[in-house]
Amino acid sequence: MENKTEILINLAKKRGFINQSSEIYGGFSSSYDYGPLGSLLKNKLKELWLNNMIKSDLDIVPIDSAIIMSPKVWEASGHVSNFVDSLVECKECHKRFKQDDVKDSCPVCDGELSAPKKFNILMKTYIGPVEDSASLAYLRGETCQGIFTNFKWIKSSMRKKIPFGIAQIGKAFRNEITPGNFTFRTREFEQMEMQYFVNPDKADIYFDLLKQKRMQFYIDLGFKKENLRFKDHDHLAHYCKRGCDIEYNFPFGWQEIEGIHNRTDFDLTQHSLYSKKDLQYFDEDSKESYTPYVIETSCGCDRVLLAILYDALDGENFSFPYILAPYKVAVLPLVKNKEKIVKKAKQVYTQLKDNFMVDYDQTGSIGKRYARQDEIGTPYAITIDFMSLKNNTVTIRDRKTKKQSRIKINQLNDYLLNNKKSSFIQKIYNLLCKK
Ligand code: ATP
Repeated sequence: MENKTEILINLAKKRGFINQSSEIYGGFSSSYDYGPLGSLLKNKLKELWLNNMIKSDLDIVPIDSAIIMSPKVWEASGHVSNFVDSLVECKECHKRFKQDDVKDSCPVCDGELSAPKKFNILMKTYIGPVEDSASLAYLRGETCQGIFTNFKWIKSSMRKKIPFGIAQIGKAFRNEITPGNFTFRTREFEQMEMQYFVNPDKADIYFDLLKQKRMQFYIDLGFKKENLRFKDHDHLAHYCKRGCDIEYNFPFGWQEIEGIHNRTDFDLTQHSLYSKKDLQYFDEDSKESYTPYVIETSCGCDRVLLAILYDALDGENFSFPYILAPYKVAVLPLVKNKEKIVKKAKQVYTQLKDNFMVDYDQTGSIGKRYARQDEIGTPYAITIDFMSLKNNTVTIRDRKTKKQSRIKINQLNDYLLNNKKSSFIQKIYNLLCKK
């Protein structure tokens, strides 16, 4: 009997969600490619996250900063000097420690430790044709540094007043010692981060507010509540005043999918020191200048997507909430060798495709095609048959109930628009999915 993880990995591959990278060359360790359905799902997740941020009432704006930044950024952030020691990593909780600081097991969870390594988490690259140290640069290890370095510019160009936030989605790279659990921990991954700049006196209020809002986001996405929990940090990074994770109940244990931290004024202070630029904020009401505190919400897009796949796995199918399903509806001509049926099916496809993500499928028996759509979580399947040619009706099959009803082709769009499963989905749907 396959376990849940094996079923998930096989289904993700079989149906075009996720596969190992460079498969034709035998694969490449801990690198993964998203296929058509995986990238539709990922893009939807990113769209929902970004809209959740920039359409909130918190005054949050998006940016898209460079992956390769000045190496000085990583000196200021502490990533260069902090990670050149001999490190060991716990094989269970993946916390890293200086070898000198620990004995033979992890001080946090008592797990087994990896062999020590001279270690820098940042991935190096070389700018220019000669690989010398003068042209050394790094691939960013976290997206937030691009937000800190742009704080001054965004504040002035967008005339922002505190509190406000900057949100960014993008790739980050880390030389992880122990990648694993499919896409849970990889060396190249995507982050969705938001840094919220606040008056230090209000930091706790915004920390609590963002903590609740972030949990609500996952509930609204349709996650099963019992699979989510908060975990307060016992051990805080040196720059952190408060920290809390949102964890998901993976088959391999409760694990972080998002971190919420009060990073204090550490980052802006460091960048101010290294860049010699004033990164303070002048408060026009109190006539005081101060370095804002940062409350960050930092989540891994690939990791959340993996949690979505586990949460949706129902037997050997992905049963996604409507909002996340890569295709909302499939159009299936009953047979592929009757020209008139195929023509009508293509008309139905054209009629729907501007409002919905539609899959058109005419290969294999109708039963096999329903099964395929059930596997990928398509909420509705429409079949065009001989009756369709006579009276312009089709059958529409609801994935969850398996019930089929017959409706007029010119009522299809309204039928699909009205069949939303909850008020949240209706709201989000109106906001995001309808053209
Ligand atoms: P972990 O303890 O799991 O290594 P972290 O505390 O180092 O994570 P952060 O630096 O807070 O993680 O990054 C924020 C988010 O980015 C994490 O919650 C996670 O979802 C994601 N993330 C971090 N490292 C990886 C990775 N190697 N692969 C995939 N996602 C990652």
